[in-house]
Amino acid sequence: NTHKSPAIRWTRDDDGIVILTIDDPAASVNTMNDAYTESMAASVARLEAERESIKGVIFTSAKKSFFAGGDLNRLRQYDTGRAAEQTAHIERVKSDLRKLEKFGRPVVAAINGTALGGGLEVALAAHHRVVADVPGCQIGQPEVTLGLLPGGGGITRLVRMLGLQKALTQVILPGTKFGPREALAVGVVDEIVESVDQLIPRAKAWIAANPNAAKPWDKKGFEIPGGSAASPALSSVLPAMAANLRKQLKGAPMPAPRAALAAAVEGSLVDFDTASLIETRYLVSLTTGQVAKNMIGAFFFDLQKINAGASRPAGYPKYQAKKVGVIGAGMMGAAIAYVAAKVGIEVVLKDVTLAGAQKGKGYAVKLEQKALERGKTTQEKMDALLARIKPTDDPKDFAGIDFVIEAVFESVELKHKVFKEIEGFVEPTAVLGSNTSTLPIALLAEGVQRPADFIGIHFFSPVDKMQLVEIVRGKNTSDAVLAKVFDFVLQIRKTPIVVNDARGFFTSRVIGKFINEAVAAVGEGIEPATIEQASLQAGYPAGALQLLDELTITLTQKIRQETRKAEEAQGKTWVPHGAEAVVDRMIDELGRKGRSTGGGFYEYDAAGKRIGIWPGVREAFRSGSKQIPFIDMQERMLFAEAIDTVRCVDDGVLTSTADANIGSIYGIGFPAWTGGVLQYINQYKGGLRGFVARARELAAAYGPHFEPPASLVAKAERGERYE
Ligand code: NAD
Repeated sequence: NTHKSPAIRWTRDDDGIVILTIDDPAASVNTMNDAYTESMAASVARLEAERESIKGVIFTSAKKSFFAGGDLNRLRQYDTGRAAEQTAHIERVKSDLRKLEKFGRPVVAAINGTALGGGLEVALAAHHRVVADVPGCQIGQPEVTLGLLPGGGGITRLVRMLGLQKALTQVILPGTKFGPREALAVGVVDEIVESVDQLIPRAKAWIAANPNAAKPWDKKGFEIPGGSAASPALSSVLPAMAANLRKQLKGAPMPAPRAALAAAVEGSLVDFDTASLIETRYLVSLTTGQVAKNMIGAFFFDLQKINAGASRPAGYPKYQAKKVGVIGAGMMGAAIAYVAAKVGIEVVLKDVTLAGAQKGKGYAVKLEQKALERGKTTQEKMDALLARIKPTDDPKDFAGIDFVIEAVFESVELKHKVFKEIEGFVEPTAVLGSNTSTLPIALLAEGVQRPADFIGIHFFSPVDKMQLVEIVRGKNTSDAVLAKVFDFVLQIRKTPIVVNDARGFFTSRVIGKFINEAVAAVGEGIEPATIEQASLQAGYPAGALQLLDELTITLTQKIRQETRKAEEAQGKTWVPHGAEAVVDRMIDELGRKGRSTGGGFYEYDAAGKRIGIWPGVREAFRSGSKQIPFIDMQERMLFAEAIDTVRCVDDGVLTSTADANIGSIYGIGFPAWTGGVLQYINQYKGGLRGFVARARELAAAYGPHFEPPASLVAKAERGERYE
């Protein structure tokens, strides 16, 4: 009675229930590839042929996860010339799910693990979804975060299950990955069981109790909960939703959320099968475009490479930190202590005084109390987490510690001093990490007895929200220590990139180029509001001038002076950038140092809220006296960062394209639609050659720093791309 097909196993019980177990023989997870498509078609045909003797169908999987989703490798290969072919393929996959839904027998999805994207869509075609509450199980439609939309029936079914508003705002547009309990609360699954072995019995019981299961939308008189887009209640809400979306996207070229909204709204006005076709068409409009390819490349393939350890030295045992020592309980140290304690690591948090250290621990208390209020944690978990953070002023408390992260003020002497204080107490092989954002690792390592164990562990603020950690390898740092730090970053559930020691590392150095372009433009007489709008419409999360005000204008001046001194000491000639005179004038002449000291390019009200561009800036720099094409302003920022990233590759600061792409998006706000800073070059119109030609145009108009580096020109001539 057991029939073997490529990706779906058929078993049939004496009670007439067919269990279809999805188990791709060629991969560790199930995806909507050809093996699945063919097996599904064969299974559905067999079900139809044997309908009379079948009482119900259960879908489950033999993998750890239920179903991983669409075949992203396939999806990112589509182009406009193959739109018809892709439409036909998607419709074929969907038609089998639709047949199952209308099969006339109850169909249950027994979800044994993660069901994301196309994986959840397979389950949504069933009449009932039971999920096992297993750790790490994720359920949701994250397509929009990959530049796609749930076009495998997800939009059409979710709108009919949850109503337009809920489906869009809680599931489809945010792309949230829910845990089993959250998924139940939102309504994307129907039932929860404690363990995987309870799934099939529960599914069978449901089949027995619901022999005539059918979807509500296949019954007469069905109406979408809350009404279609044409209903009076919704027709007043939907325009506001569209406006809101526009506001959130700030004009960035991200087509997926808009397409998802349109597919849901238009689909709500027609019957199920027409809606499903509309959804397919919108999906194909996205997959054949460039943005989805960029985003799939970054948020799926690059992240996968990074997490699999492409930049981690091989051959070292997996490391798990147990007890971490954090020196400096200020803004960064306090937050680092919190994220470590959160994953179960014991933390000793040291500051100059015990009161200072306790104040740092207060940060964890504050965040945990908020989490408790929101139901995101329990009193018990919160107490345990807080008990793991031990505030101290005594270096002796570093006894037994094998992982140190220093986050005191940015001073070489001070950093040398605090490492001396603790070196005698920590384990003899302890990692000696510094969270410095600008100081050379080699210089800091001179202050410790074991320079091979010294390394940069560069966090971003706010630490609990920012996903990236830039690991900076000094010239003496050992592979063993690098591997440990890499594992630690994964342990605290963040994303590690690995770079080599050089001034500004990768992130601080490259973000400076973005800011410089905006500041230089102010000096040229371009309207500051236009410059900010150009940043936002290019897809940056904030305007460059706003960002600089927050970082403080004096910081860039100080970094530039130090960089210049160091480069001149090496015999290099310094080529001034147009931004420098503007920064100097802002500080020295106009007394505008940034937000924390009363204002910079912007003025702020008493509560620190941005009011608008400070009129003095417009006056001093004759804003509006010069105009350049809007696209030039945008591309100056994007190109300046991309070109400097190429120089980082040339200098050996960066050794991985995936690290560059993800580091730029997660660390310094490079626009997500590009797929990251090197992918931006790959995907530029005309590819690398097109990029080189445009860079030369920008160089002629805006300065020699846009001149494409020789390595890039050579790569373009060879017809290669950044892989
Ligand atoms: P901060 O001023 O908020 O905190 C520094 C803390 O170090 C203070 O609490 C101070 O009391 C403590 N300290 C000073 N001397 C000490 C000693 N001898 N022993 C123990 N503690 C001592 O500064 P921050 O913003 O948290 O920055 C700390 C480090 O992190 C710096 O190197 C900075 O460059 C780096 N960093 C900062 C950011 C950011 O956005 N603020 C981002 C990345 C990296």
